[in-house]
Amino acid sequence: MFEGPVQDLIDELGRLPGVGPKSAQRIAFHLLAAEPADVSRLQDVLQKVKDGVRFCEVCGNVSEKDRCRYCSDARRDATLLCVVEEPKDVLAVERTREFRGRYHVLGGALDPLAGVGPDQLRIRQLVARIGGTGPAPDETDIKEIIVATDPNTEGEATATYLLRLLRDFPGLTVSRLASGLPMGGDLEFADELTLGRALSGRRAM
Ligand SMILES: [Zn+2]
Repeated sequence: MFEGPVQDLIDELGRLPGVGPKSAQRIAFHLLAAEPADVSRLQDVLQKVKDGVRFCEVCGNVSEKDRCRYCSDARRDATLLCVVEEPKDVLAVERTREFRGRYHVLGGALDPLAGVGPDQLRIRQLVARIGGTGPAPDETDIKEIIVATDPNTEGEATATYLLRLLRDFPGLTVSRLASGLPMGGDLEFADELTLGRALSGRRAM
């Protein structure tokens, strides 16, 4: 145990995901030794993400404006939606350069044991978009939904739920990423090539 603010810093860092006690200590001492300008830059961006970053009113992705760059880009195919769990998954799909449609970020996956049901996810907003009553006026004719939830138990349960919910929409194809993604993992950890193949080889459910 260290004294006062140093220990407080180590405790706070240790609460971050993936940061164990040893890493927390290492980061804390790195910050203590860092140039004041470097530390204030970090302080600035931390403040800014809490103050300045919002969620896109259409897709739920993180965004600086009311609409994210994908939803406000008229060159992107507005008839094709890729449904992902988290904003970081949008980046993973973008890295493949295989997808020219738009996104819908659910904000997680169904996990009844953790109290996450359909109402805790942005499923109602997805249905509104498909029904042509979403906030984006150019999205009136969504033809395909690619369910790109994580290849794990919760992601599969979410995909199955969405399929049941969406299969009765006339003229809508619901497809799922092709297999080949490492099971039990997270979409963001799939390499670009594998994820790109899973996207282009998607199958209608
Ligand atoms: Zn958006």
